[in-house]
Amino acid sequence: MPDIIVKPPNLKELWKLLPGLPSARRYLAGGTDIVTADNAGAEHSECWIDISGIPELLGIKETAGSVFIGSGVKIAEIAASKAARRWCPALTAAIPHFASPSLRNMATLGGNAANASPCADGVCALISEGAYVLLATKGGRRRLPLKDIFLGPKRTTLKKDELITGFEVPKRPHAGAYLKLGPRSYFGISKAAVAVAAELSGGAVKKARVALGSVAPVPLYAAKTSAWLAGRKLSAPVIEEACELVKTEVSPITDTRSEAAYRREMCGVLLGRALNSLR
Ligand SMILES: Cc1cc2nc3c(=O)[nH]c(=O)nc-3n(C[C@H](O)[C@H](O)[C@H](O)COP(=O)(O)OP(=O)(O)OC[C@H]3O[C@@H](n4cnc5c(N)ncnc54)[C@H](O)[C@@H]3O)c2cc1C
Repeated sequence: MPDIIVKPPNLKELWKLLPGLPSARRYLAGGTDIVTADNAGAEHSECWIDISGIPELLGIKETAGSVFIGSGVKIAEIAASKAARRWCPALTAAIPHFASPSLRNMATLGGNAANASPCADGVCALISEGAYVLLATKGGRRRLPLKDIFLGPKRTTLKKDELITGFEVPKRPHAGAYLKLGPRSYFGISKAAVAVAAELSGGAVKKARVALGSVAPVPLYAAKTSAWLAGRKLSAPVIEEACELVKTEVSPITDTRSEAAYRREMCGVLLGRALNSLR
């Protein structure tokens, strides 16, 4: 455990507090990653900044052109949101695959992104939704495509003390699917996961975004497969070819959870199932 835990009531107080805090500090949201790491001896901060009470990070709000999902939104809240169900179908489809009901009531979407695990289900789904991540520091704000902030396992382009305030998903009518292959049907870290968001018109794909989890050092946006699907009818041969193409974009490893060759093969299988479910 850290020496100090502070809990600012809002963003303004957070920025005021920072200069007086020990330099080895980290944000604490739902705690499902950071507390687990602390228990395992892999987390050594002197100070945790509990951001769970900051109102600016909460809620799911619809604006004219987008849906804002606060970084402090719990995974379980997403499934209950009408706006998320309507505009973020791949993200909503990912929720039942995320850990267990108790974990979903603690874990936040912001923590899922900041933790930067290649198997992060929420992130993988959000990337397929074409989401932007909203970042804040004392001095300013940034808005970046979510797919671009990941550098490797547990590494992002976030600066020191930079806070994820939320995510912005552009409102585009589309269909979505999320499929995850794990050791069990539910409650397991994935061997491979596929998220698909597709704008369809008369059986043809206007635009598709395919993202994959656990098969690269980062949650992966499959740029080639996504671009290749655009303008094509979702016929059996097209789906078959997309499944072959996606296997060339991933770079899975062999670890305790699965083998590289099996994971690569499963990317094709999962993408095929996901695309077929949208036909
Ligand atoms: C038993 C178990 C099962 C799990 N199953 C799954 C699963 O199926 N799928 C999955 O994707 N994940 C799973 N996880 C991982 C974890 O639950 C998620 O990554 C979760 O979303 C993390 O959110 P949190 O709010 O708990 O983050 P925390 O643990 O509070 O924080 C995680 C990291 O993010 C940083 N952080 C948090 N919020 C912000 C912010 N707003 N801005 C900047 N930095 C921030 C923290 O400093 C910390 O480094 C599981 C974890 C456990 C323990």
